[in-house]
Amino acid sequence: RGLSVGVDIGGTKIAAGVIDGHGTVLAEVRRPTPGHDPRAVETVITQLVRELSAGYRIRSVGVGAAGWMDPTNSTVLFSPHLAWRNEPLRRSLEQRLGRHVSLANDADAAAWAEWRFGAGRGESRLVSITLGTGIGGAMVMDGRVERGRHGMAGEFGHQIIVPQGRSCECGNRGCWEQYASGNALGRKARDLAAARSPGARAVIDASADGTPITGALVTELALAGDAASRALVDDVGQWLGLGLANLAAALDPGTFVIGGGLSGAGDLLLEPARRAFGENLTGRGFRPAARIEPAALGPAAGLIGAADLSRLPRRLPAPPG
Ligand code: BGC
Ligand code: ZN
Repeated sequence: RGLSVGVDIGGTKIAAGVIDGHGTVLAEVRRPTPGHDPRAVETVITQLVRELSAGYRIRSVGVGAAGWMDPTNSTVLFSPHLAWRNEPLRRSLEQRLGRHVSLANDADAAAWAEWRFGAGRGESRLVSITLGTGIGGAMVMDGRVERGRHGMAGEFGHQIIVPQGRSCECGNRGCWEQYASGNALGRKARDLAAARSPGARAVIDASADGTPITGALVTELALAGDAASRALVDDVGQWLGLGLANLAAALDPGTFVIGGGLSGAGDLLLEPARRAFGENLTGRGFRPAARIEPAALGPAAGLIGAADLSRLPRRLPAPPG
């Protein structure tokens, strides 16, 4: 059935790969996301697609981007982490590449990949959460990505979970992604290190050579057994579980799939999430509870999904109306 290029544009990195019809990644390249210039982002995407197309016969190109799409998946209306404001991204990329490009929200793309090839297979009511710079959310219901009336359903990262809480890049305060994302984990660790907290020894040492204190670093230290890092991951896990309980009240999915960089922490993150979920789920004890499962495709889910959606464009229809 030929090969596709999938591109995943996140707040910190752009990843692109060549994907076959089974969701297998045949080649992959990555670049940091360039600052705050939409043109520079387009240039990197174009370069990566060209680079990958050189060695393969490519039938379609799909892009997943961390932004809110219009119903036709052509314009990025808004992005909390990138400079897009009413940005006609699809048209710009098509002009640069001279071919059709399909566009989707990055979290929608990742959810689609997990439903097609990963931990969500066979689930008729899937909610997918991608923990990275922010929190990506998406729903695959009866085999289609549910996008709401205006194309932007699933922005769960911006549910307000703490009234008057931390300021969010979306302009509101107290959004879930300020408490349960990779960024949130990094920030909590930086606070701890800045306070020279005695427990933060490992974090301080690991950053002594200039290594930035990020969610990825804390995850690594937690997996290596550092108690303070484990406590931070545990805390993020509890925030995660609380938000999932809210989502279960609204959406009643069969399965939550948890992916993105932070999900590499595995049970260190998911156990406290399951605990907090169980303690906050409305009607608990009198209702079946959704399963909370780790994603199966790892960080490549976004580009796999973007590529696969570009092969089956009608599987992601515009909302009615
Ligand atoms: C954005 C989403 C995106 C997510 C993950 C959120 O802040 O609002 O559109 O999917 O970050 O990148
Ligand atoms: Zn927000």
